[in-house]
Amino acid sequence: MTLTTRFAPSPTGYLHVGGARTALYSWLYAKKNGGDFILRIEDTDLERSTQESVDAIMDGMNWLNLEWTHGPYFQTKRFDRYKEVIEQLIASGNAYRCYCTSDEVEAMRSDAKAKGEIEKYNGLWRDRTDYPTDKPYVIRFKNPLDGDVVINDMVKGDITISNKQLDDLIIARSDGTPTYNLTVVVDDWDMKVTHVVRGDDHISNTPKQINILTALNAEIPEYAHIPMILGDDGKRLSKRHGAVGVMQYRDDGYLPEALLNYLVRLGWSHGDQEIFSRDEMIELFDLKDCNRAPSGFNTDKLIWVNQHYMKTLAPEYVAEHLAWHMADQDINTDNGPALSEVVKVQADRVKTLKEMAQISRYFYQDFTEFDAKAAKKHLRPVAKEALLLVKDKLSELNDWSAEPIHTAINATAEELGVGMGKVGMPLRVAATGAGNSPSLDLTLALLAKDKVLARIELALAFIAQREAQT
Ligand code: GLU
Repeated sequence: MTLTTRFAPSPTGYLHVGGARTALYSWLYAKKNGGDFILRIEDTDLERSTQESVDAIMDGMNWLNLEWTHGPYFQTKRFDRYKEVIEQLIASGNAYRCYCTSDEVEAMRSDAKAKGEIEKYNGLWRDRTDYPTDKPYVIRFKNPLDGDVVINDMVKGDITISNKQLDDLIIARSDGTPTYNLTVVVDDWDMKVTHVVRGDDHISNTPKQINILTALNAEIPEYAHIPMILGDDGKRLSKRHGAVGVMQYRDDGYLPEALLNYLVRLGWSHGDQEIFSRDEMIELFDLKDCNRAPSGFNTDKLIWVNQHYMKTLAPEYVAEHLAWHMADQDINTDNGPALSEVVKVQADRVKTLKEMAQISRYFYQDFTEFDAKAAKKHLRPVAKEALLLVKDKLSELNDWSAEPIHTAINATAEELGVGMGKVGMPLRVAATGAGNSPSLDLTLALLAKDKVLARIELALAFIAQREAQT
C-alpha cells in the first residue's frame, strides 16, 4: 500500500502560515517515504468558501513548490458519494434519523448540565422507527455507548477518549448536506489516506472520525496532530502579528526557500541544525520528531534565514524572485545590469528582496534629485574639483570594469592630495543619488559608463546651483 498523506484546507481565506506548515509536514512525510500527497479542497461550507480562496491556496502551494500527486479534489463534487455512505451507515444500523428541533437538543444539553452530566444529545431517536412524515430531520451517527477510542498520535502520543464523552454527531443536515466529520472520513477512506497530518485544533474530531471509520469497516489511518503556531507574544497567530498569509511573505520579500526552511524548524528539529535544503528536509524530517508544544513565530529568525538564502542560493535564481519585486515597484530592468549581478552586490546588504529592489532602483532608473541629506553633506563646492577630475579619468577608460575604475578613483585622490573618501563619497552620491551603495568600483562598473558620466554632470550642476545660492 502506498503511503498517502493529504492537505485538506477549507477555502475560506488565504493559505496562512499554520496551514502552510501543516501542508509542508504532510508533503515531507509523503516524499520521505516515497508516498503520495493529495490536495483536497474542503469546500462544503458554501457560504464561506470562495474561488478566490481556492486560488490563493493553490498560489501559496505553488509558490512554496509543494507539488501534490493527486488532486485537487473538491468535496462539493463528491456529494453523491457522501449520500451513498450516509445511506450505507443507515442501512447497517450505524446512523439514524433524528427529528429533534435545535431547541429540543439545546434543552437536552442544559438538562444534562443541570444534572452534572456531560452535555450532549440524549439519544432520543437512536432506536425509534415511528418517523413522522411531515417533519424535517437530520441524520445522526450512532456512536458506541461504551468503550474507549485510543488515538496513537504520532506527535502527541497515546490519547484515550471514553465513548461516553462523545455525542451521536450529526452527519447530514436537514437539507441532506453532509457535515465535516462525515466528508473527511469518506474522503480519507476513498483516497486511501494512510497518514492524517493536521493541526491539533482537529484533535477533538479524531475519535468521532475513528468511530465512523470503524462502523464502515474502513482502515484507520495514522494520525499526527501538529501543535499550533503562536505569535511572539504567546497568543494565537493572527493578523495582529503582521503577515499571516503565505503570499504576503512573497510580497514582503521573502524567498520561498526561506519560508519553508523557517516553517520546517517551527515545530521540528534535527539536533541544532538550522539550515535545511529541500532534499535534506525530505531526508531528515520525521513526524515523530515534531514538538508537542506550540511554537512561537519569530520574524527576526525568518529574516535571518531569508538573508542566508539570498546570499547562498545561485544569484541567477534569486534574481528571478528579485525580478518580481522590481516589477512590483515599477522598475523596468530591461536596460541595465543583469539582475543576478545586482543580487551579488546587494544580497548581504538587505533583509528582504523588497528592500533589495528598493535600494537597486538607481541601477535602472535615472533620477533628477539626490538624497537631500547625502547631497548636503557630500555635494558641496569643495567636491567640485574631485568630481571634475574623476570624471575626466573615468571618461578615458576603455575597459569599464571594477579594477580600472578603482585605479581612476585612487589616482584622482592622489593627484589632489586628499583621502579616498573625498573623491569616493561625492562620486557615490553622484552616481547612485544616495550615500549608501555596495563598493563604489563595483557599483560604477554595473552602471554603464555614459550613465555615470551623465550623473556626475548632474551632480556638478547641483553644486553649481548651490554655489549660486550662497
Ligand atoms: N478542512 C479542515 C481545515 O481546513 C481540515 C480537515 C482535516 O485536515 O482533517 O481546518
